[in-house]
Amino acid sequence: MNILVADKLAEEGLEFLTQSGVSYDVKIGLKEDQLAAEVPNYDGLIVRSGVKATAKVLANPGKLRAIARAGVGVDNIDLEAATSKGILVLNTAAASTLSTAEHALALMFSLARKIPAANHGLRSGELEWKKRSIYQGTQLAGKTLGVVGLGRIGQTVASRAIAMEMKIVGYDPYFPNETALDGRVKMIKDFDEFLRQIDVITFHVPGGEQTRHLLNRERLFNVAKPNLLVINDSRGEVVDEIAIAEALNAGKIAGAALDVFQTEPPAKDHPLFSCENVVLTPHLGASTDEAQTAVSVEACRAMVAFLQTGEIRGAVNAGGVKLDLPPDEAPLAKLASRIGSLLAGYAEGGFKTITLRASGPRAPKYLNTFLRLATVELLKSHLSDPVNVINVEHIAQERGIEMVKIHEPEPPQGLVGDIIGVRVQSAGANGENGESHRILGTVYADGLPRVLRFDNFVVDMVPEGDMVIIENEDKPGVIGVVGTSFGDAGVNIADMVISRHIPASGEARALMVLKVDSKPDDGLINRLKARPGITRVKTVKLPKRDA
Ligand code: NAD
Repeated sequence: MNILVADKLAEEGLEFLTQSGVSYDVKIGLKEDQLAAEVPNYDGLIVRSGVKATAKVLANPGKLRAIARAGVGVDNIDLEAATSKGILVLNTAAASTLSTAEHALALMFSLARKIPAANHGLRSGELEWKKRSIYQGTQLAGKTLGVVGLGRIGQTVASRAIAMEMKIVGYDPYFPNETALDGRVKMIKDFDEFLRQIDVITFHVPGGEQTRHLLNRERLFNVAKPNLLVINDSRGEVVDEIAIAEALNAGKIAGAALDVFQTEPPAKDHPLFSCENVVLTPHLGASTDEAQTAVSVEACRAMVAFLQTGEIRGAVNAGGVKLDLPPDEAPLAKLASRIGSLLAGYAEGGFKTITLRASGPRAPKYLNTFLRLATVELLKSHLSDPVNVINVEHIAQERGIEMVKIHEPEPPQGLVGDIIGVRVQSAGANGENGESHRILGTVYADGLPRVLRFDNFVVDMVPEGDMVIIENEDKPGVIGVVGTSFGDAGVNIADMVISRHIPASGEARALMVLKVDSKPDDGLINRLKARPGITRVKTVKLPKRDA
């Protein structure tokens, strides 16, 4: 086994390779052609951000099976080229957890005790000694810290803050339990309720649409406590920086410390630069000697583990897994993915169990692949690391989510042929089960995935594009309200399925599944949610029919 180290790695990483008994060469500064010529002779390639594993480099990969990136960003690796050649790409996101958590705590202390301002006042000569109480701060012990995102970094911050005698509450809609860290962190499901209780808020969530402006103007001005300190060491877009500056100037919150910005570097006239009680650092969360060493060691460990035992840690792509099903069976894989996406949009998060059932002549052959494909869709929107068919089982296991696959000998009643069904079970209050939803589908002779059951509702539609799912009481007038609301908002309804379920006891319920020509905005969705009789409105974005 032979590994090529093509960027400068910390000595500790190379020592690990030596101790593991694998042979390796360090060749730094290779040009694209030179790297392309070297790569086929090696089983593994380890890089940092210097060398570029382009499509040309990977065109004839020879025996190359894996590329490990010591660090997080993989912009220097052509993932598509690697995946198409079946080459696994690994990164080392977990290696910077401790350093980033410590940085968030450092920001919290600096802000609470006004250390940067006091340091500046003293050294610049601006401070009049007798007036040094202007830097009087806030004690953290006894205060309530709100941790947004109870993943790796969030939990690391929380456990340290517990030792500082802070009270900790958590907000993470995808966290499967009511408490975290052995009951020491209480999870709160409603963000505003969470915000109302806390003195310090710290963000440890992925970026993207789902977390954009979690802390927005409305919450800063109308929900937050006036003594709130805001810490963001995750991704810039998670907080509304402009609104933070305004809230600080208006005395609506007490301070803010940010390591990350919506645009990096931030503009020279960024409004936060002129605010009092602000601490800003230039994206230094993971910037420690130890984290730099850790990424090198972890990249070497991950590479050796994969080459020696097949164990996969920190996979970024789907390399190594064969997804090229025969043409008549490939649409079933698409069906499994789309059912996963629909459920991800429809069900509340915090899944405890994800169950895939398959029946019929072909579907049960790929239970594992289909379960993985559906689970990827269910998890990917709320995790910062890429989730794919290779790493999904490992990620689910880490997060306490059970993945179950069942081969049903017969299709469910009333259905024939190949049927794939996915059920998600969420965690509820007091250790009880929460919501449970399932979607069943099939592929007809036209090769298109079709959804046939949505919980107990009978439907028949190709899941694709922008969709809106509305659950309502089965009463006159609701369909009209929905049609008018979309019309007024200028959103064209391209297709619509309406279904009714009359339970053995209780009121009849109805479900509308709409396909729309453009994404409905939040205003329209909120107006629909506020209408009497409408109990749930969810939007889902799926790939187009042929994607
Ligand atoms: P992680 O995937 O382990 O945890 C993310 C957590 O956020 C998960 O528990 C997830 O359930 C939760 N989450 C997702 N959507 C949410 C939502 N809408 N509301 C609340 N919680 C939600 O990730 P991690 O390794 O802990 O990293 C957290 C963040 O820190 C990432 O954005 C990462 O890019 C960033 N980071 C920054 C630096 C830096 O230099 N400042 C360094 C490393 C990581």
